[in-house]
Amino acid sequence: MRITEIRTELLRMPLPRPMQSGSSSGKKGGPVSHINLPVVFITTEDGTRGIGYAWSLLGGATATRCVLKDDFAPLLLDEDALDHERLWRKLYKRLQSVGRHGLVTQAQAAVDLALWDIKGKIAGLPVYKLLGGCRESAPVYGSDGGWLYMSVSEMLVAFEGYLKQGMMGVKMKIGHEDPKVDIKRVSEVRKALGKDIWIAVDANQKWDFPTAMRVGRELEQLGVAWFEEPLLCEDIPGHAKLAAALDIPIAMGETLGSRFEFDAYLRANAVDILQPDIVRVGGITEMVKVVTMADVAQLPVAPHHMMESTIHVACGVMGSGPIEYMPWVAGAFAEPAHIKDGHMIPPQKPGLGLEIPEEIIHRFRVE
Ligand code: MG
Repeated sequence: MRITEIRTELLRMPLPRPMQSGSSSGKKGGPVSHINLPVVFITTEDGTRGIGYAWSLLGGATATRCVLKDDFAPLLLDEDALDHERLWRKLYKRLQSVGRHGLVTQAQAAVDLALWDIKGKIAGLPVYKLLGGCRESAPVYGSDGGWLYMSVSEMLVAFEGYLKQGMMGVKMKIGHEDPKVDIKRVSEVRKALGKDIWIAVDANQKWDFPTAMRVGRELEQLGVAWFEEPLLCEDIPGHAKLAAALDIPIAMGETLGSRFEFDAYLRANAVDILQPDIVRVGGITEMVKVVTMADVAQLPVAPHHMMESTIHVACGVMGSGPIEYMPWVAGAFAEPAHIKDGHMIPPQKPGLGLEIPEEIIHRFRVE
């Protein structure tokens, strides 16, 4: 199925609720208000069109579009769109010296998503069924209501909205300059929600090892489900020491850029819960491999963000594990994510089931 046309776009869209974490803030340290969405449309000789996308908050979006347009498009034209594995390797090898992690990998993920979309449309099957059809839905936790700038009462309003929908629990950010502020906020949320509600926390790589140790011990007392990104993601030995010393599970992986980077963490026993981001890790093709590695290591996978496409991997090849409810790019797609009784149900249309209306492209396009 020959690729005949490749179109790229870049959208800049407002976030449904501004975000602020221990590693991401806007100008002058305030919340971030927009998300960038580099998009690729790949068309085949029979007129089938696949859609893929990357995402970024703080930069790199125009460069990602350039990689798609200038580097990848010429390599993909006239290729067989059904050869996702061969094409993944071709792109990886051709840009290895400038890629392997970061925006080149993210552009590669956009291509990979589009190729899986095409494959599903040609097969007449949703991608999660093509991948393996492990389950028909995945439990969801609410993750867009616990930002650093929000007061405890603001967070509780957001969390109660999630819990009313039957979601399994909530995640909140930690990572203030003074970690005592975080412990106080988590304590107050725990007290308000009760001891039985699932709560996870995310430090977004804010701390050094001694601080993370101190905070981790306090989080254990508060019955927190996982301690996400306590340290800089390059610090594999630090994560290994922390994972060995603390009882609370260490979750990380959203900033790792391939199965090779996950492998380094697994070999070092430095992570308890793997959190691949479908875009940052290199797309569906690469994420499926990470899920297999987690299966061999007998560790859970809790995918990071981009729930609209991740749900296909989460239901296709994973028998368990939650979806992170983060509707950051929901406004781009023609149909909203289907959440029922606290579970997300994958789109049932052939392919990814995601279409971006032209009207949305016109409204949010960055030239
Ligand atoms: Mg995180």
